[in-house]
Amino acid sequence: MEPLTHAQTRTTDAAAARPTTLIIACCDAQLDPARLAGAAPGSCLELRTFGNVVPPYRPHRVTAEAATIAYATEILGVQEIVVVGHSGCGAVAALQPGGLSLRAFDAWWWLTRSGNTGRGRAATDDPGRAHLRLQVAKLLRYPKIKRRLTERRLDLRAYYADPASGTAELLEPPSRT
Ligand SMILES: [Zn+2]
Repeated sequence: MEPLTHAQTRTTDAAAARPTTLIIACCDAQLDPARLAGAAPGSCLELRTFGNVVPPYRPHRVTAEAATIAYATEILGVQEIVVVGHSGCGAVAALQPGGLSLRAFDAWWWLTRSGNTGRGRAATDDPGRAHLRLQVAKLLRYPKIKRRLTERRLDLRAYYADPASGTAELLEPPSRT
C-alpha cells in the first residue's frame, strides 16, 4: 500500500476542528462506525477498543479510555456519544464459557477486569446486546456523563450492528435519570 500524503490525510472542512460526536466502537475491522452513525467527515472522534468496552468509572484510576471520554466531553464538548457493538464479536465470544481465557491472556484480562464477567445477566438475554447494554450502563456511571445527560447537554445512542448485512439496530435509549 502506498503511504498517504499529507494532503490526502487532511479532512475536508472546518468540522474537523469541532467534533460533535464521540463514537465508542469495537475495533473489529468489519465495522465502519462513523458511517453507521451518519457522522459527517471530520465530525467525530473514535474510541475503538476490543469489544467496545467502557472501563468502569474509578475515581483517580485513569485509563486511556476514560481520558479520551473526558477529553471529548469536557474539553471538546461533544453533543452525543454513540456506542457501537456488533454480532459475531470476538470479545463477546471470549467472555462465554470456553472463550479466549489463557490463550490470549491480556485480552481476556482486559475484558474481565473491565466489569464484563456476565454476572447478573438474565438467561434470556442475547449475549451481544447484553454486552452492549452493559457498556452503556458503565458509561452512565461516569458522573460527568450522567450530569450532561440529565441536563440534556448530551445525547447517548447505542447501535448493535450486523457487519454481514450492513445493518444496525438502534437499542432503546438509556434513562436520563
Ligand atoms: Zn467486536
